[in-house]
Amino acid sequence: MNFHVLTLFPEMIENTINTSITKRAIEKGLISVNAVNIRDFSSDKHKRVDDYPYGGGAGMVIQAEPVYKAYEYLVNHIKSQKKDQSSLKKPRVIYVTPQGKIFNQTMAQELSLEEDLIFLCGHYEGIDERVLEMIVTDNISIGDYILTGGELPALVMIDSIARLIPGVLNNEASSEFESLKDNLLEYPQYTRPEVFMGRKVPEVLLSGHHAKIEEYRRKQSILRTFERRPDLLENAVLTKEEREYLTGLSKEL
Ligand code: SAM
Repeated sequence: MNFHVLTLFPEMIENTINTSITKRAIEKGLISVNAVNIRDFSSDKHKRVDDYPYGGGAGMVIQAEPVYKAYEYLVNHIKSQKKDQSSLKKPRVIYVTPQGKIFNQTMAQELSLEEDLIFLCGHYEGIDERVLEMIVTDNISIGDYILTGGELPALVMIDSIARLIPGVLNNEASSEFESLKDNLLEYPQYTRPEVFMGRKVPEVLLSGHHAKIEEYRRKQSILRTFERRPDLLENAVLTKEEREYLTGLSKEL
């Protein structure tokens, strides 16, 4: 999968992505991350890309032209990389913005099926609306708070999408049973030693009895979701017995 980022701060993307699991995924050829500097497409002799907002108001706005030119360059670059030109479709362009739909695991899963994704990062007060109307296919936010720029949101999304691509995580199973799968939080995890400062690992996990461990973990997942994120339970996929367990938990309140 190929991630492309239109940004004023390519080094922010490159430095972060070239560490740990994403670095290994790049080295293995499972993903690529290509940061394109919008400033390189400025026609201003001082390479400025922002200007005052029409109508007044605080802050500066990124101009439409350098963003559009950077986008055009990128789409041509992506086209030139493809062997089969006949099946080409334009990649989705995600504008990371606090005005978008809030990113979640289901969206990460859906986006992980794309071959190419373009992220557009804003800065200052944002980007001239006209170019957004022309190129953006998806508006996505990472939460109800305002950041100074779109690079961190783009990195958050790239990281969570990349780890869903087969082969990126060493142990394939590690993305299979984790928080938010089936709308449940993950059960608590323990590792050696068996006793830490007087606290013992739950006995069942040492039993080697796989069915019992599985049942214990499911119940822990349900309990944890009930305590911490009850809003998720509405859409959780539960068996009849698990629903009864949940009803029991509600009655204990
Ligand atoms: N004036 C804009 C508004 O009210 O919508 C906010 C601009 S913000 C200071 C600068 C840039 O940071 C945005 O263009 C966007 O790319 C990015 N950004 C800030 N908060 C974000 C969030 N919660 N999710 C995604 N992107 C965000």
